[in-house]
Amino acid sequence: MIPRWLLTVLILVGLVAGTVVGQLLYDPAYRLSMPDSQHAHATALAVFTFLGNTVFMGLLKMLIIPLVATSVVVGVTSVGNFRQLGRIGIKTLVYYFATMLLAVVLGLVLVSVFRPGDTIGLQQRADAEAGFRAVVPEAVQAQAPQAGLIGAFRGLVDQIIPVNVIGSAVGIDYNTRVVQNTGHPLPVIAFFIFFGVVVTMIGPKGRILIAFFDAAFEVLMKMVHAVIWMAPVGVFALLAWTVARIGLGAFASAIGGYMVVVLSGLFIHGLIVLPLLYWIIVRTNPFRFLHDMRQALMTAIGTDSSSATLPVTIECATEIGGVSKRSAGFVLPLGSTINMDGTALYEAVAVVFLAQAYSVPLGPVELTLVAITATLAAVGAASIPSAGLVTMVIVIDAVNASVLQAHPEASAIPIAAIGLIIGVDRILDMFRTAVNVWGDAVGAKIIDRLEPVTRLES
Ligand code: ASP
Repeated sequence: MIPRWLLTVLILVGLVAGTVVGQLLYDPAYRLSMPDSQHAHATALAVFTFLGNTVFMGLLKMLIIPLVATSVVVGVTSVGNFRQLGRIGIKTLVYYFATMLLAVVLGLVLVSVFRPGDTIGLQQRADAEAGFRAVVPEAVQAQAPQAGLIGAFRGLVDQIIPVNVIGSAVGIDYNTRVVQNTGHPLPVIAFFIFFGVVVTMIGPKGRILIAFFDAAFEVLMKMVHAVIWMAPVGVFALLAWTVARIGLGAFASAIGGYMVVVLSGLFIHGLIVLPLLYWIIVRTNPFRFLHDMRQALMTAIGTDSSSATLPVTIECATEIGGVSKRSAGFVLPLGSTINMDGTALYEAVAVVFLAQAYSVPLGPVELTLVAITATLAAVGAASIPSAGLVTMVIVIDAVNASVLQAHPEASAIPIAAIGLIIGVDRILDMFRTAVNVWGDAVGAKIIDRLEPVTRLES
């Protein structure tokens, strides 16, 4: 048996090597020194995307829906009684929303103090808008998520109730009409929570189903065990692919300040706020638990997707971190689609940054609106790469409506302003996804502490 620490070291090597190789490929001086540089560059990118996206992400995505279904049923059926299930549900939701709001407030403070948008000039704005319109056709812009506060709520409920659960599992959402090749986990979770509750109500007949889902869960965890060994190569390829297209020089560009503010917020939230909360409630060393979750966090950095990381998150949490199957089945899958502290923080910072760049005045009312809509937009974001960039339209629309009502003469933030930040989004996505996953894991431990696990449930 190959030791676990070796896997961690290999993933870490993959992360660093991927960054270095990606930067070399991005660097024009180095790229042009290669014989037949154009062809070599294109081939390298094609190999990286094959190994990273097609093979590694493909294997992880393959496990998401079966794992969500089985872990949710195992989690729900292992809870002793309905009253306790209700308590766990409420505490879990309170945790999700409280930590997302904390993250948003932190982001708002940082972006308001450092004001990275003030340095953006007219020419940069014009270039960014033109670039955005070139890559995102009008037709797609018009399909933006439902705008405003009410729209954000409706969009959310639309995403939760599966009109057709088989459709959701295969990736067609008949409410939102969004097709997603990983499947739509949220409606599947909603269905299986309901299913699990009823299984426990039908008495002895339900036992066969409980045994079935328990066994299937164990098999899937063994499959995750096997796939996780692909992580070093997968993470290397994904990092190299991302960095080769963006380049680390972006940090020194005009939007470097914005990137630094987002990353500082993510680090403060992930390394100070969440650990503090963990320590106050769980009363054990949060950094020990961070260390237990390291492979999941590195996978999140590589894949930019909390859903694709979910199999590894569940594996690390239950097998290394000591999280109960109950919380792993309830808090982690639901958290991977709903609880996105990193995305909420990022959306708030990004929208205020764009407002600063376009000299759109934001008063306390607008900042409160940003806080609420950024939280809802993060909840509504799918746990896939760049989802936060899409749902940001909800926040921009809500802010614009409020600004124009208060100051009819003021200008609004054009949707095409997103062009300013779209180019570097993938780099920020790595870290916000890691914070999203870390927030879920901390939540699972906190729920275990607040609702102690009986021997039956562990
Ligand atoms: N990529 C993020 C996740 O999967 C969502 C986002 O912020 O774009 O958690």
